[in-house]
Amino acid sequence: MLQIEEAQAMLTAQVQKIEETERVSLAEAYGRVLAEDAAARRDQPPFPRSPLDGYAVKAADVASASKESPAVLQVIGKIYAGTAFAGTVGAGQAVRLMTGAPIPEGADTVIRQEDTLAEAETVQIFASSEPYRNYCFQGEDYKAGTVLLQKGRRLNAGAIAVLSSLGAAEVSVYRKPRVAVISTGDEVLAPGTPWSPGKIYDSNRAYICARLAEAGNPPVISMHAADEGARVAEEIRKAAAQADFVITTGGVSVGEKDILHEVVRLLPAEKLFWKVRIKPGSPTLAFVYQGTPVLCLSGNPFGAIANFELLARPVLAALTGQQDWLLEKEEAILQNDFKKPAGARRFLRGCLKDGRVSVNSENQASGAVASMANCNCLIEIRPDMAGAQAGETVTVYRF
Ligand code: AMP
Ligand code: MG
Repeated sequence: MLQIEEAQAMLTAQVQKIEETERVSLAEAYGRVLAEDAAARRDQPPFPRSPLDGYAVKAADVASASKESPAVLQVIGKIYAGTAFAGTVGAGQAVRLMTGAPIPEGADTVIRQEDTLAEAETVQIFASSEPYRNYCFQGEDYKAGTVLLQKGRRLNAGAIAVLSSLGAAEVSVYRKPRVAVISTGDEVLAPGTPWSPGKIYDSNRAYICARLAEAGNPPVISMHAADEGARVAEEIRKAAAQADFVITTGGVSVGEKDILHEVVRLLPAEKLFWKVRIKPGSPTLAFVYQGTPVLCLSGNPFGAIANFELLARPVLAALTGQQDWLLEKEEAILQNDFKKPAGARRFLRGCLKDGRVSVNSENQASGAVASMANCNCLIEIRPDMAGAQAGETVTVYRF
């Protein structure tokens, strides 16, 4: 049976990074991956700028100004932020200006308003200064031509602020991966439909769709199909025509209704693997249909979830070239005992906080849904561990 890493490698070997791009407005750009370098077209700030409200002067004119012996300068104009001033500050002159206003020609420092007293046509300056004190240089933030954001990076709020400061209303990004999610099972009901005996409501599809949405990448198809080989094959055909990656749940074990094996023959598709050496969810099946990878997860809620986290994320990372799709691995101190020996690498639902991790609630059974709600990581129990004891260091994969 395959190790997880081998299964991951077999899946990602089928994937080509998405190179198609599209232009989106900055309002839609959050979380997208930049498809071009973003370079400055002009200096920032584009002009020498005043960092405060006060007077632009020549430092030489106020070199010995003080409370006791103020310099008295002629005020030749006023500049608000957002306006330009054509004149030049000469010896003995000052220009009143506000924070963010361009510092006019001839001036090399700004005296803050608190150190001045305005008179009819002059101003008294009570503080000395030196050249380029209280003076923001043109281009001190960034210079024209500088590449500020590199192609291939994900756009967070700060990066979008940078793009906006460049004056770009739109940006070129890679298109998102198109993912289709299909849950199967005659007993599985979509929430909102009336319950009847023998049925359970779907939880796997909701989890997977929520995880995709969390990454800004909701599925392009989310549907349920009954346990009928021909029907599921048809849905996978349609999904694969649209999607870069198809994920199904249910029907991969050895029962009579475990129809995904039949689906592989019906499509027909190229099987990559069936069964991975982990608990839970070992019957995971993977195949490629006309170039599209299809990952078929066990229907058991925690089997589906653990295998989604471990096997689907690497496919999404390979499609996007973004390693942030992968779970972060860290070490943590286990807070409670888990008695069951593993035999294979076992993953448990955990709650991680400040380097300590607790095994979630009582029910870690792979069929249990309730213990998912407060789970923020997977805890790995190695096959050589006879369960795990409180105080042991374990590896966790943080969502
Ligand atoms: P299967 O993998 O189809 O053999 O299903 C294993 C177990 O998971 C069965 O008890 C199913 O009823 C249950 N199950 C299958 N699909 C889902 C689903 N989408 N949501 C919740 N439970 C499911
Ligand atoms: Mg089933």
